[in-house]
Amino acid sequence: MSNPILEIQKLSKFFGRVVAALNINLTFEPGVLTSIIGPNGAGKSTLINMLSGSLSPDSGRIVFEGREITHLPVHRRVQLGLCRSFQVVNVFPQLSAFDNVQIPVLAMQNRARRFLRPVAGEESVHREVEDILDRIGLGGEKSHATASALSHGDQRVLEVGIALAARPRILFLDEPTAGMNPVERVRILENIKTLSKEGRTTFVIVEHDMDIVFSLSERIIVLHHGVVIGDGTTEEIKSNPKVREVYLGEEVSE
Ligand code: ADP
Ligand code: MG
Repeated sequence: MSNPILEIQKLSKFFGRVVAALNINLTFEPGVLTSIIGPNGAGKSTLINMLSGSLSPDSGRIVFEGREITHLPVHRRVQLGLCRSFQVVNVFPQLSAFDNVQIPVLAMQNRARRFLRPVAGEESVHREVEDILDRIGLGGEKSHATASALSHGDQRVLEVGIALAARPRILFLDEPTAGMNPVERVRILENIKTLSKEGRTTFVIVEHDMDIVFSLSERIIVLHHGVVIGDGTTEEIKSNPKVREVYLGEEVSE
């Protein structure tokens, strides 16, 4: 078995009397496309915020690739390869898709250059930007369009591209299909599936749409009142009595 990419040990977070996370233990294996689901207020965002570093846990440990990161700030986690995207669109609207991806690629390569070799040409930057745009389906003509001219769905896809520029080892996507029409949804999901299969980045997604979750995920984690009440494959989650009772209710019918 491969080493876990991320381990969460007894992670807890309280907001006054609200239990947002209670003794959460989870292990993430590399390459397993995972969804985190649960009703509103279940603690999904709290968990992602603690993992990405924007929220400090009250207790517990977070270990990323064997290294404790529980109290590391966001930018240090990004440097190590633990990244997230947000629920709202976060691109430079006046810049082209190419330039939106080029900015973080340049930042990455500049940093690498300081440590590795003094001369790395413009060409390698361009190659990497084009590679990312191709992988997310925004290559060719679309790469020259200003971001604001892209459809909402393409803008969300572009965000994934921007996140990929940091070469994340693990990437948390917060409702990547929010605000998308069904056609766009299918596209971004196919994209995420393909990117996941490439094996460079492990994807963990917070998603509301159960059809999407069931068709996309290799593993589903169900939260309720800050506690993990289900963890398994689509089939296991569909037949988990606790999940059916507190969350899915009548929605799950075969
Ligand atoms: P989800 O993302 O699953 O909808 P959240 O993680 O946002 O759930 O919230 C979990 C619980 O913690 C909810 O009861 C929510 O009201 C509470 N909560 C989240 N963030 C804060 C905060 N900054 N201050 C107070 N309560 C919060
Ligand atoms: Mg939330």
